[in-house]
Parts: sequence; structure tokens; C-alpha cells
Amino acid sequence: MEDKKNFELLYEGKAKKVYKFDEQKLLIKFKDDVTAFNGLKKDQILNKGKINKKISKFFFEMLNKEGINTHYINDYDENSFVAKWTDLIPLEVIVRNYTAGSFCKRYGVKKGLIFDYPLIEFSLKNDELGDPMITKDAVLLLKVTTEDILDEITSISKKVNDILSDYLKSKGIILVDFKLEFGISKNDNKVTLIDEISPDTCRFWDANTMESLDKDVYREEKGDLLNAYEVLLGRLDI
Ligand code: UDP
Repeated sequence: MEDKKNFELLYEGKAKKVYKFDEQKLLIKFKDDVTAFNGLKKDQILNKGKINKKISKFFFEMLNKEGINTHYINDYDENSFVAKWTDLIPLEVIVRNYTAGSFCKRYGVKKGLIFDYPLIEFSLKNDELGDPMITKDAVLLLKVTTEDILDEITSISKKVNDILSDYLKSKGIILVDFKLEFGISKNDNKVTLIDEISPDTCRFWDANTMESLDKDVYREEKGDLLNAYEVLLGRLDI
């Protein structure tokens, strides 16, 4: 895939490229690449980037309207949007409403059990270490971030879960779990929700059939990934 000629490429991840748009803004470009198991399984899926951009844009706009400070500013092209430039906090926040994925493996429980209240977990964002889980105290002792910021991240994550779960429920979709990332915006120093909110980073189950409309289709090789993403897209008010 050709790089955007006019913008400096700052970072290339597994599913996105990040360019400098101007001194305060980034251009986030969604790639067609899909990976799983820490990059061990890898493929290209035509049009996945476009779909994930549309879905992320839709959720970020919804959250912005609900008063959540996200990095999304405006649409740019089929695969990209313009976002606030933030300094990344190297944590992944995992919110779980039902058991699935690594939680089931870790504790030997079956998938699809509902929790009495959302479980919030943190992982240290570090590919070499395989994003190990980290406790609140370890985050503070290692000075990954401050207690105030960690508390704010936790409270924003719970709000995001409430907003997205309610909306998706009205569309016959269960929000099983998802991953969020945060940064501090260069412009105003505020804690900001960044990255993406897409079927690559969330588990969405059809509430009637319990079928996956997310990356588990790829991880577990249970059908056509693009088709699942398109079904999800079709259910949203996009
Ligand atoms: N997730 C993610 N990136 C990661 C790890 C997890 O987007 O590096 C998402 C994943 O798609 C799921 C949720 O976070 O919606 C919880 O993932 P889990 O810890 O169960 O790990 P997985 O089964 O994805 O390895």
C-alpha cells in the first residue's frame, strides 16, 4: 500500500499507520492487514481498513456527542481520519461484560458467562513482552502513569462501556468485551480516548444467534471475516 506522500509517517502498527497531519493533529490510516496471536497469524483482507474506519468514526462521533473526550476530529478519506495528537499512555484497558478469549483460558471457565458488573483489566502495551497484564499498583510503582490519570481512564472506560453496550443492545448486539487506549493531548493536556473502536478490538455477538461479528471469526477460522464485519456495519446507523 502506498504511503501518503504529503505526510510524514510517524508510526506503523499491525493494523494502522499514523502520520503527522500538522503540529497538533495526526492522520490515522486503517490498513487491510489483519493479525492475531501477537502477529503469528497474518493476512490481508481487502476493504477491512475502510470498514474499520467507518465503524471507529461512528463510535467516536457517538462518544464525542456523549461528552467523552476522544481523539477523533474529522473524516479524511476512505481509510483515514484526522485525530488529536496525543502522547500515548502505554496501557491497554480491557473491559469485559461476559467471559471470552484470554479470560477463559486464564481461569479455565467457559465462554459467555455474564458478569455481575463490568470487569476492568490493564495490560502493559509492549509487543516484545506480549502485552502482559498489570495491576494498578504495578502501574503506579513503575510510574507508567499517575493515580489520577489511571482513575480517570477507569471512569471513562466504564462510561464508554455503558454508552456502547446500551446502543448495541438496541441493535441486537451484545458487547462482550473490548480494548481501549488513551493518550494525553498535546493541545490541552487532557486524558483522551485514542486508537480505534472496531471489530478488530471488540467482541460483538449477535444477541439471537450468539454468532461473532468480530475478529474471532479470523482468530478461530469460523467463516468469512469481511462478511461478519459487513453484517455488523449494516446493523449500525451508518
Ligand atoms: N484486544 C485487542 N488487542 C489486544 C488484546 C485484546 O484489541 O492486544 C481486544 C480483543 O479483541 C477483545 C478484548 O480486547 O475484544 C479482550 O481480549 P482478550 O484479553 O480476551 O484476548 P484475546 O482473546 O483477544 O487474545
